[in-house]
Amino acid sequence: MPGFEVFGDEEKKEIMDVLDTGILFRYEFGEQRKDVYKVLEFEKKFADYCGTGFAQAVTSGTAALKVAMAALGVGPGDEVITQGFTFVATWEAILDIGAVPVFTEVDETLNMDPADLEKKITDKTRCIIPVHMLGAQARITEIVEIGNRHNIAVLEDTAQAAGGRINGQHLGTFGNCGTFSFDSVKTMTTGEGGMIITADEALWRNMSEYQDHGHDHAVNPGGRGGEGRSFVGFNFRMMELQGAIGIAQLAKLDAMIRSQKDHKNRLRNAASAIPGVKFRTLVDEAGDTATFFAFILETSEQCSRVNEVLQAEGVGAINFSENTWHFYPKWEHLFHGSTLAAGGWPFAEPGGKRRVVYDPEALPQSADIMSRTLVYPVSIKMSEEQLEKMCAALEKAAEAI
Ligand SMILES: *Cc1c(COP(=O)(O)O)cnc(C)c1O
Repeated sequence: MPGFEVFGDEEKKEIMDVLDTGILFRYEFGEQRKDVYKVLEFEKKFADYCGTGFAQAVTSGTAALKVAMAALGVGPGDEVITQGFTFVATWEAILDIGAVPVFTEVDETLNMDPADLEKKITDKTRCIIPVHMLGAQARITEIVEIGNRHNIAVLEDTAQAAGGRINGQHLGTFGNCGTFSFDSVKTMTTGEGGMIITADEALWRNMSEYQDHGHDHAVNPGGRGGEGRSFVGFNFRMMELQGAIGIAQLAKLDAMIRSQKDHKNRLRNAASAIPGVKFRTLVDEAGDTATFFAFILETSEQCSRVNEVLQAEGVGAINFSENTWHFYPKWEHLFHGSTLAAGGWPFAEPGGKRRVVYDPEALPQSADIMSRTLVYPVSIKMSEEQLEKMCAALEKAAEAI
């Protein structure tokens, strides 16, 4: 799973380039930095790798979502649709920009169900955020088609699927823009960090200026530019050390994915012995990043029984219906409207009127699927011993049901 497994000399070399100049800020210091612009170089390489025009680095994947929504013009009064199986960051960013998150069901892709998306669109919907969860594709072509038909922007939360593709086209390039996270457990990591990619230069320019306090970047494209400003911004700037690490990690990404795929295939072959087992639907198996291996049982009882065997063998799998960070029914702070703001924002309008109330039972289709799904994180480095142990446990589970 995480890029920290392959952190090595390449990262250290890139970091030393920065330490040798002592310039940690991505902009300015023209003389002293001796042409070392690591964040800028990382952005260009990332955009090239994804086959798109522009990339904007920021401090985190959560910041990337916020900056992307700001550039798309999302704000208070808007609704933003995402899926009920995602990391909390996706809807935190929606709330933080002042909009109301609306949640769709997931289908057996474990990502946004396009049929449910259609039902949740209203005249307030400003943006759709499908998430490519657990390293694999949402039904993004159908989702973009729905967005286009309703004239609603699509932002792909690709935090967990850097390097993922559909028929060779990179995830994050189907919608208006795509966001990535490089936090410590993501496939490629910069410790903390994020990126937004887009083919739309005007959209990118707004992102570039917004993440730098609104500084006018137009007079000096790619640089910080002038002292003018056209709108209020914020600070989400990535620093040079992160950019340096990102360059080295990006160069390893395809190799990381290849090794994950080998390991995932081993697990998949072993799990296929389980009677009635299905695998998570992949829109394009060749474009899966294989960061996770998800398999779906026929009933939740079977699922529990299988996991009991796996646990007894010391290799229990994750059941995301029990996970408090990634699945809607477990987000009690959302249901309680818990916030530090004395006035109740973002759940309550000024004056204390509650804007929106969430029902924990609102996503029965997702609850059913998640209760039958088991997931293994797949690592880049897995010992033969560990793989054999997991495969043997899966075969044992197959006999037990
Ligand atoms: C990790 C993650 C994020 C947030 O990224 P950070 O860099 O940790 O802020 C957003 N969305 C999803 C789906 C994630 O998994």
